[in-house]
Amino acid sequence: MITIKSAREIELLRAAGKIIYDLHQVLKPLIKPGISTLELDQIAEAYILAQGAKPNFKNYNGFPNTICASINDTVIHGIPRKDMILKEGDVISIDMGCILNGYHGDSAWTYGVGEISLKDQELLDVTKEALYQAIRVVKPGAYLGDIGYAIEQFVSPHHMGIVTDFGGHGIGRNLHEDPHVSHKGKKGQGVVLKEGMVICIEPMITLGSGKVKVLKDGWTVKSVEAKTSAHFEHMVAVRASGYDILSDGSSPMQGTNG
Ligand code: MG
Ligand code: MG
Repeated sequence: MITIKSAREIELLRAAGKIIYDLHQVLKPLIKPGISTLELDQIAEAYILAQGAKPNFKNYNGFPNTICASINDTVIHGIPRKDMILKEGDVISIDMGCILNGYHGDSAWTYGVGEISLKDQELLDVTKEALYQAIRVVKPGAYLGDIGYAIEQFVSPHHMGIVTDFGGHGIGRNLHEDPHVSHKGKKGQGVVLKEGMVICIEPMITLGSGKVKVLKDGWTVKSVEAKTSAHFEHMVAVRASGYDILSDGSSPMQGTNG
């Protein structure tokens, strides 16, 4: 069931999203060679708690930490570790969320560690732009399939692989709500977007085929060809005037596609 959020609920979601946006800005300058993913996790947890919020990934279906820290060929759900130390040229996706006043925030971003290869930089640029291409189609009356279609149309010429085993989702009082948001799709197909729906759009793109496998730990999702992967995610509300990004630190209703 897809829940429709009131204007007040959208602001509560934005407040949770703002904490995660701000936290990304806190972590960004710390993403340097020598820091462990567990240190980043501990900083994130302390930050979220200091805002009066709680980490919502921790203990979610047994996930052990506050952030997902996914390096290089790990696409998503990397478990932070003391012995996983960032090195020059790595690419790290940090996905994290929190719950504040009963509403969830969730946003992922991929960062280069020091200087990264041109190919990896292109992957990050393409994945981020794919996210924004998808966001721009969001408005009442658009179809869920339009989102996946926009991503596919943009990514295809770059010969990168779109991950389809995992996708985006609705968000609200629960971290994961209906609908499932696929990052491939057909124009004019699927659920019709209505004012008040809030979804996470989160393309995961690899320099491989987009095929992934889950490791024995039950969490870590890797590119089957061991190729570099990227993941960018925003929370997006469907408003009468178009889209409204809730996790980019902006004030109410700055984003609109009229
Ligand atoms: Mg996420
Ligand atoms: Mg998500």
